[in-house]
Amino acid sequence: MSYTAVNPYTGQKIRSFENVTDQQLEMLLDQAQDFYEKAQRRSVEERTEFLNEFADEFENNTEKYARILSTNMGKLISEARQEVAKTVSFARYYAKNGVRLLKPQPYNDLSSGQAQVEFSGIGIVLAVEPWNFPYAQVMRVFAPNFVLGDPVILKHASIVPEAALAFQEACDNAGLPLGAFTNIFASYDQIDHIIEDPRVQGVALTGSEGAGRKIAASAGKNLTKSTLELGGTDVFVVLDDVDVGAAAKDAAKARLTNAGQVCTAAKRYIVSAEIYPDFLAALRDEFVKYHLGDPLDEKTTLAPLSSKSAQKQLQEQVEKVIAGGAKVLFGDPTPNKGKGAGFSPLILSGMDESNLMYEEELFGPVAQIYQAHSDNEVVKIANNSRHGLGGAIYTKDVERGKKIASRIETGQVTINQILSSQSEVPFGGVKDSGYGRELSDWGIYEFANIKPVIY
Ligand code: NAP
Repeated sequence: MSYTAVNPYTGQKIRSFENVTDQQLEMLLDQAQDFYEKAQRRSVEERTEFLNEFADEFENNTEKYARILSTNMGKLISEARQEVAKTVSFARYYAKNGVRLLKPQPYNDLSSGQAQVEFSGIGIVLAVEPWNFPYAQVMRVFAPNFVLGDPVILKHASIVPEAALAFQEACDNAGLPLGAFTNIFASYDQIDHIIEDPRVQGVALTGSEGAGRKIAASAGKNLTKSTLELGGTDVFVVLDDVDVGAAAKDAAKARLTNAGQVCTAAKRYIVSAEIYPDFLAALRDEFVKYHLGDPLDEKTTLAPLSSKSAQKQLQEQVEKVIAGGAKVLFGDPTPNKGKGAGFSPLILSGMDESNLMYEEELFGPVAQIYQAHSDNEVVKIANNSRHGLGGAIYTKDVERGKKIASRIETGQVTINQILSSQSEVPFGGVKDSGYGRELSDWGIYEFANIKPVIY
């Protein structure tokens, strides 16, 4: 496997990197274990201070870190800066709340005696991360585990090696202890070997269902705790009482940000039949505003896909969707001819269960649209999916929105706002979208030893 950065807009190769050798890997695992053993005897405060220094390093060098995202995976430079800011916010959240979250909790209401629940690390955590948010996804795992004293070993997506190294550099520049965070360019076999190592006590994977099944199987075989953050087919519900223009603007943004490569992107619009024609017209008016261009150009509104292979895969999926009976309501479904990984936005309708692609995640700027004649039908369409990641509901009647939100089988739902992760709120999925939670108080306990001392 080759860790190679290729600019997805120009198609030009930037740089390749050597894989770690088995010997180096052993030494890095020893180093991580050494950090773990020392960290369990040191204060949480010390680590929260380091996290703030890491956040300062990222914040003070936003432009440098942001440009790497644009050149490695094609993110628009404005969105890349937002990702740097979000990464900083995740670090600051755990820096601010880490001591409180790990403070021993008294449990006095026992049938006999009293208890104090203590929190500590469990060992090395392996993070296997995707390219779509190359810093933010890593920080979601790193910050809470670092505060716990769990060393994190990162296996990043092979197309964003410079982003992986930049994260490592930020840790080093912030003076984090050796072994606290270790990026490795490893093969899949080496990843299996790491999971087999008894010092490795946790595996966090964010990525596709295929990778999730593989990594979870390895973890299960070794009785290693795992969390999986996988894909979704999230709905964006537009009820009959909305301001159609405003909802269409958010709907387009929720589908086309990051060239549609967001796990919680609005992949299925469900629109009240009464406003369907007006909404569709407004949505088309929004989609035409997105133009493919150089992600480093401030004026570009649509990024390329992350790689030529992502472009090829999405093109094949779209062809199958159309062959299965879907209609193209907006856009040109023929392959993009440029040298980069551009993909034209599409709006498709007419998907039903007979379409072989009905439940597949389309990871790019391709939306599906459905009509619903009642709130019950909204819920039925939304839940007719093996995924359960997120969703959004637009309505002037927030109470009506909350009732629908409660019935949608996903890990999170927003009302009148685009779904986006926040430090303070747990994030994760149900069904085939995975298990476990990242961020907030819940995220720090995934790889913690939650230990009552009863007396
Ligand atoms: P991917 O192909 O599954 O890759 C994710 C990571 O898993 C990469 O580091 C990849 O390494 C690694 N990997 C894949 N197969 C592996 C194996 N057999 N052994 C060890 N490592 C393996 O996913 P992606 O295309 O990068 O990311 C897109 C997917 O992630 C989408 O489905 C998206 O919805 C999902 N996602 C979910 C969330 C969430 O929070 N729920 C957030 C972001 C993205 P290589 O690059 O070397 O193959």
